[in-house]
Amino acid sequence: MAYLNVTEIESAVAALAAAYPATAELIACPNATHESRQTHMLRVGASSGPAPEAILVLGGVHAREWVPPDALVSLAADLLEAYELGTGLRYGGKQFTADEVRRAMETVDLFVYPCVNPDGRHHSQTADPMWRKNRRPHPNGGGCVGVDINRNFDFLWDHLAKFAADSGVNTSANACDRNVYRGPSVASEPETRNVTWALDTYPRIQWLVDVHSAVPVILHSWGSDQNQTARPDQTFRNGAFDTVRGRANDTVYGEYIAAGDLNRCATISQRMNDAVKGVRGDDYGVEQAFGLYPTSGRATTSRSAGI
Ligand SMILES: [Zn+2]
Repeated sequence: MAYLNVTEIESAVAALAAAYPATAELIACPNATHESRQTHMLRVGASSGPAPEAILVLGGVHAREWVPPDALVSLAADLLEAYELGTGLRYGGKQFTADEVRRAMETVDLFVYPCVNPDGRHHSQTADPMWRKNRRPHPNGGGCVGVDINRNFDFLWDHLAKFAADSGVNTSANACDRNVYRGPSVASEPETRNVTWALDTYPRIQWLVDVHSAVPVILHSWGSDQNQTARPDQTFRNGAFDTVRGRANDTVYGEYIAAGDLNRCATISQRMNDAVKGVRGDDYGVEQAFGLYPTSGRATTSRSAGI
């Protein structure tokens, strides 16, 4: 198969850590999956001073999106090799100088978690190519398997209580929903808890990038309602707005984001888009995540200012 299988992803990150002991660290995630798979992150960085600000990059949350895990393994390998050899990196028409590689490696820690949902990927690659969820067994031994990891995080998880009834929020409490079942409780899934474990264990992780391959777009916070910068009381933490949250184009509720945070999200997203465009000219575009559809329980909205 042209794409890496879950065993190859694990052996790749282990091999990188062994090959670059000074700049890569293999980190075991604590929660085994329903099918007893253990996963690892790779910390990539060459900072010699105090621990720098860090970025967590996720891949493979959605089983059928086969590209991101491979891309993240390649990204880690490219950075580690280029730094060691003192070279730059080139992707299509986009070039990074040796100095840019050195600065990136020495000023941030990149936590690369290439395959969050290996059970799902294995199922997608061997049995059902369009499988998206993990492989949580049905509670009563029935046929409805799996939870959408990207609806299981602790962000307005209980959509029936936290969103307007007519918001169209894209999640489901039905275990038989093929794509977006949110799970029986918040963070019920080991895959979800591995991600939150990383955020809790390394509080210097200030940015979370969750790489998918369903829609070519760069999405940034928030996903729950249209952003607004004027009313700090209108926030996902405020239960007074639970019955009106998530409606598009209304004047009753917008998700508060501080103007400075919004500016940082938009600026970084645009830089990501420009970098992608430089490779082969593809213009993904930048949007607030709510523009795709209202969401609850997603990884990137479980931390403020995460893209
Ligand atoms: Zn996806």
